[in-house]
Amino acid sequence: MKRSTKIFIIILVVLFILCFIDFRPWFYKKQSEYLNQVDETRKEYKIGSCYNMQEDLCYYIIFIDDNESKWNDEDKSLFIEKKFIPSMNYLTTQSSAYNVTLETNYKVCEKSATYEDAIESEAVEHGAQYDIFTQIASSLGYESPKEMNDSLKKELDVKQVAYLFAVNKEGRSYKLSHTQTAIERKYEFCVFFSQSIGHTDTTCYSTIAHEILHLFGAEDYYDPYGNYPEREKLAKEFYPNDIMFGTVTDVNNVSVGNYTAYSVGWIDVLPQECDVEEWWK
Ligand SMILES: [Zn+2]
Repeated sequence: MKRSTKIFIIILVVLFILCFIDFRPWFYKKQSEYLNQVDETRKEYKIGSCYNMQEDLCYYIIFIDDNESKWNDEDKSLFIEKKFIPSMNYLTTQSSAYNVTLETNYKVCEKSATYEDAIESEAVEHGAQYDIFTQIASSLGYESPKEMNDSLKKELDVKQVAYLFAVNKEGRSYKLSHTQTAIERKYEFCVFFSQSIGHTDTTCYSTIAHEILHLFGAEDYYDPYGNYPEREKLAKEFYPNDIMFGTVTDVNNVSVGNYTAYSVGWIDVLPQECDVEEWWK
């Protein structure tokens, strides 16, 4: 056999073998280089006091009176029936599409808590008030958010307490995250307003569902801090109606898309459409 024929056969054999090699692990390794670590694919998941929507959890609703607004019993009932419960029902329906059963256990704190100042109606505009939890804990007779969390976990017999603070005035709801630098922020919470700016009731409970998803790891798609401009474009293409766009729309028009489901642990494999470099730029 001629030398050139031998080389040709060797090349053919090599090409044939290459067809059967799975290059995906190599590709993932490359991805993890620009992501630094694999967990970066859902960096808010499983950190902080709220880490898993499916396990041993109680939503604890605390009505807050501040120096601009107060709650009465009727308004409290309306908030629970028209906003909180529909938002939980919405999340339950959405999670069932992923074959996931959520923990929907909730309890309403018997006393209203007080905040000495005015709770800002927009955390984005004026900066979040990190002392909210400290003041709430103190007004309910606890020494600190930590003591309140430890004691409520025992009392409610759960591993996680998701704090939902409700204020009876107009505002834009938000969630405060865990960070490793400030211990008081370890105890995550949402602040909800009885009337959402620019929302009707049905859009308002989509806001509550949106913030609850944040508590457990979901990330915004509307890119409020300009971190992921490319992701916003891709998300518009793949998840145009995702609840994490935070748009003012009827809850019946929004859904929990694959990446949001992944970021809160409803699925455990990074969706293919997000497994591209643009998603992380
Ligand atoms: Zn958001």
